[in-house]
Amino acid sequence: MLAAPARVVVSRCCAASLPADSKRRAEWQVGASCLSTMAASSPEEESPVGRMGAGPVSLSEWQGWGTSSTVPSLVTEVIEDLRTLERDLDANMSFGGLGGKLRGPLKVPEDKKRRTLYQSLTDSEQKLQYFTAWQIAHRLIGCRGYLCQRCWLPKEDCMCSRVVPCSLWNGIRFWLYMHPKDFLRQNNTGKLLWQLFGIQSSVLCLFGIHEHEEIMWDAFRSSGKKMVWFLYPNKSATPKSVQDIIFENSYTCPKGQIMDSNDLPLNFVLIDGTWSNSAAMYRRLKDQWATLWGEEEPPCISLSTLNVSVMHKLRPQPSWDRTCTAAAAAGLLSELHHLHPELCLHGFDKQATFVENALEALLDALTKRRLRMGRSITRKERKMVSSR
Ligand SMILES: [Zn+2]
Repeated sequence: MLAAPARVVVSRCCAASLPADSKRRAEWQVGASCLSTMAASSPEEESPVGRMGAGPVSLSEWQGWGTSSTVPSLVTEVIEDLRTLERDLDANMSFGGLGGKLRGPLKVPEDKKRRTLYQSLTDSEQKLQYFTAWQIAHRLIGCRGYLCQRCWLPKEDCMCSRVVPCSLWNGIRFWLYMHPKDFLRQNNTGKLLWQLFGIQSSVLCLFGIHEHEEIMWDAFRSSGKKMVWFLYPNKSATPKSVQDIIFENSYTCPKGQIMDSNDLPLNFVLIDGTWSNSAAMYRRLKDQWATLWGEEEPPCISLSTLNVSVMHKLRPQPSWDRTCTAAAAAGLLSELHHLHPELCLHGFDKQATFVENALEALLDALTKRRLRMGRSITRKERKMVSSR
């Protein structure tokens, strides 16, 4: 119930043992943004007015969006609270307009209850988890029946037929560490990776969702710290490149491309959020890394050959970052192929091309949609339109 503080699950590897300054930082990040931007929208996220929320989110519906986890318990609670409000006020949930926000008679009372609940939470970790669950729950209900579950585009613009799945060599695994504001966002590019490689090779991990973060950190704990790399330009540590990654002998075995099932994959974490959100996401990863292994800085690599993403042809741009997540993955695969000749058997160059092709298809689908809906596709035109 919204009236009582929500049950918040605190990951064993995060808040409970965070250093005090990290807690304060998290509090500030969440406090500064949560109340004012919980329903913030992206210009790309429009949806028709008047769709209804209806029932709870089932396991198959949840997993259909690209994850194999259980439905996060806090997300279920937020949705249940919405349904309770619906019953109490005898009004239907309705989402629409920019950002697919809650509209209609439930909007004001829900806003009031949310603020009361949020302010009742005293722990910064609880606030973060609630913030994430709230965003995810609203996006799940708001996009239901409207977006294609696989490509996250409106069903009439579905691009799934243009994405050709391919196998990622099982010696590596991507983790898409995604900000909740990017979840179900049409111009998100991280989703392309599991469309191509499958949800076991490209795993979605939502920032602040306990169930997801626990799966990811459990995997890291099992594989060991030498098997985890973060693709992030960490300015405070000595820069490392793809060349610095050391591969064990089993990775370069000339006998075949398939690793032994007992061998654990090398994990690459891709931070999937806007540039401004990615700093906070990295800090959380860094704090969790320090808690688990007592080291200040997680191993970060930067790409040396990264080009500006094809997505930047699209206006508005998906983020202010110089590239997008899928382009970073393609760059990583390409560098693995070119900088580690001993790995050439694994076809990383071909897998990089598949990612680039999927990005082109997404750009195409988004551009066609904007044109069809009479929207401008350049930033300049958008400004002119909005100033009229
Ligand atoms: Zn689709």
